[in-house]
Parts: sequence; C-alpha cells; structure tokens
Amino acid sequence: MNMRALVIGVILGAAAANAAEPDWKVVEKRALEFLQEYVRIASINPPADTAAAAALFQRELEKNGLAPKVYHSGPGGQTNLVVRLKGRDSSKKPLLLLNHFDVVPVDAKAWGMDPFGAMVRDGFIWGRGTLDMKGIGVEHLMSLIALHNAGVTPDRDIVMICTADEESGGARGIQWMIENHFSEIDAEYVLDEGGMGSRDALAPDKLVFGISVGDKVPVWLRLHAKGTAGHGSQPIPDNANLILLDAIRKAMALPDGGKASPVVEEMKRAIGTPLAQNKFTSAIQRNTISLTTLSAGVGSPPRVNVIPSTSEAGLDCRVLPGTNTEEFISDLKARINDPRVTVEIINVAPDPGVSSTDTSLYKAMRAAILKRHPDAVVTPMIVPFGTDSAFLHRRGAIKYGLTPMILDTATAATMHSDQERIPVGEFLQGIHIFYDVLASEF
Ligand SMILES: [Zn+2]
Repeated sequence: MNMRALVIGVILGAAAANAAEPDWKVVEKRALEFLQEYVRIASINPPADTAAAAALFQRELEKNGLAPKVYHSGPGGQTNLVVRLKGRDSSKKPLLLLNHFDVVPVDAKAWGMDPFGAMVRDGFIWGRGTLDMKGIGVEHLMSLIALHNAGVTPDRDIVMICTADEESGGARGIQWMIENHFSEIDAEYVLDEGGMGSRDALAPDKLVFGISVGDKVPVWLRLHAKGTAGHGSQPIPDNANLILLDAIRKAMALPDGGKASPVVEEMKRAIGTPLAQNKFTSAIQRNTISLTTLSAGVGSPPRVNVIPSTSEAGLDCRVLPGTNTEEFISDLKARINDPRVTVEIINVAPDPGVSSTDTSLYKAMRAAILKRHPDAVVTPMIVPFGTDSAFLHRRGAIKYGLTPMILDTATAATMHSDQERIPVGEFLQGIHIFYDVLASEF
C-alpha cells in the first residue's frame, strides 16, 4: 500500500467509525411521530386489513433507500411486508426481525379515550397496539433504518417481516408467508415479541430483563352443551346452561403440581429470589385455562323466558412447552365426563420447545441490555402467550423474544386490555438496544 492509499484508508476508516453513530435526536423524534401515525391506523383483526399499515412502512423504508416487498395474502386487505438489509457474510442465514401489523379489537367504552388516538400523556403513548406490538415493530424499523443510514453493514443479512394476521393465528400472515415465500424469510435467528424488563413484574424490587426462549402453547377449545329447551317458568336440570356451567367448572379444575419448566427454574436461579406474584409469573409456572367466551340463549337479543337447548363456552388453554397436548385435552374431557358435553378443538399450536441461550445472538442481546442497564439481571424466560415465531421455530430457527423496555406490572397488564400504553422513554431506549444488537457480531 502506498502512502496515498494509506492516508485514504485512514480517512475512510475514520469516516466509517464516525458514520456508525446515528443522529439519535432525529431518529427518536421520527420514531415517536411514526408510532403515533401507525397506532392511528386501526388495523384490527378480524379482518386484519393491514394494507394502510404496510403502506406506511413501505413509504418510510423507501424514503430511506430500502426496498421493501409487499405481499397481499387475502381478500380483506391482509398485507405482509418484508425488507432485507444485506450483511457481510452471505454464508450465514439471516437474522429475522418479526413483528405484526394487526391488533386485537377494543372495548371502546372501557378505554375512556380514543383507543386509536395515540395520545402522549404522563410520559406514556396510549393506544391499541402500542404494547402488542406496534411499539416493538417501530423499534425494529427505526433501528434497521438507523443502521442503514449510518452505513453499517451488519454481520449477516437482517430481514424484517411485518405480518398481517398474528392475532388470529397467522393463517394470512406468517403461515401464508411460510407457505408462499419461505425463501424470503428463511432465517437462522428470529427476534419476536415476548420477554421484557421490569423492576417489579418478574421479581419484587429487582430489575430483571427476561429474554424469551419459548412460548407457552395455545390450545383453544370450545365446549358445547346440549340439553332440553323449555319455558323459563318451569326449571329443569337438563338445562344446557346448567350443564355447561358444571362442565366449565370441572374443565378448569386443573390438577396442581404439574411438571415445572426448566427455563423457569433457571430464571429463578438467575434472579436468586422468589418470583413476583402476579398473573404473568403465575401463568409461566403452570398450564392454565381462561374462560373467554360464553354464548347461549334463543332469539336476538336472547329471550329471558326461554331455556335454550344448546350453550357454548370458549376456553383459552395455554400449556408449558414440552406438554403433551393430546393428553392435556383427554384429561380435560375425562374431568368433564358428561355425554351431553362435547369438546371441539379450535386450534392447537405447534410446540417447538425452547431455544438455547448458548448463541452469539443471545450474548449480543445480553450485552446490549447491560450496556444500558448495568444493574439488570438478564435471564432466559418463557412467555405465557404464543407468537408468530413459533411457526419458524418449528422449522428450525432459533427464536427469541426481546422487548427491550422496562415496564411495570400495571403497564404490562394492558396488553389486549384497555388503556394499553408504553412509556415513551423506554420505547426510545429500545431502539438503541436493538441498534446495538444489530450492529454487533452475531
Ligand atoms: Zn402480539
């Protein structure tokens, strides 16, 4: 190398080093604005019309010189988006950032505000989807764009996919993409929602960052009870509603003391104190059943003076990874033990087990979290809900759930509920954590 080349090399090297630091003020301002625009698109599932959300992402990516591909997967506007940032080592399979465009419906009366207003108040941004999972989706998007604009070539290809249909099981979303465009999203690693940081939700008075290495497995069932119809004035024991109530009570009486999850045991060891006591930590320590729907009555609106001949209940069961779901369902039927009640299987999700923590990506996430929060305990965990990445996990991808935000118990509990929100500061901090992960060797 001659002197001139050396000088140019040094200058270029310095330029690359300088280029590696994004203008964070600009990134953060745009991220918050963008999240507000995104929340204002009511991409409710059903029907999961996510065309407007996809168009918003497409514009932002194209404006920043990236080339997203948009995939229409259904007649109701269901739309998925994929974008790829080229990495240095093409022999390595990509890292996939996975988030979903769709949100669950709202009970508008319970909110006390516009659930799609994206209001910023008291340090939070409020609205359906902020937590599940538009906030993380924007963190994925903005960290990817920041990386690209800073001229950083990642260790390997990074692909982001935004799916249409996570909240109904992914038939028009991740499952459709796997069936029709798998080569676009085939990855070694998948980063999805799940996991979180908290000072109270995982252990009392201790900052714990859980990185999810697996999901509980959804087993959705519907109980149908059959009885004899009649006049409400003359009660009978063969009333479908009474039969159903009895069956629900028996179905939900899960035996205590099942097999513990090894991940939760490791989590307890890492934390060193008992877990906090709340619905989240309770759910990751056992199989659970929630009674979520009840439907009965004759006429619309249902008549109070008519005993119906049928009655139905929906049960959202979630089992620990490694649970035999067939056995779980047959045990439930045995507990009900009533020929007048049938158990319909609505959906049993695949059980891909749990991901190893002995990977370079896990170490990179751990380091990125500790850089921002040196006092945190970083631990693997499982999450009680199922996510899209389970389908890719089942096809061999290593899957983690990273929600790089510190949330208190009350905030975390707003997922799928009213007053859903995330703290603005944590939302922005999460972009930095994702950026550090994506800029590292993994
Ligand atoms: Zn979600």
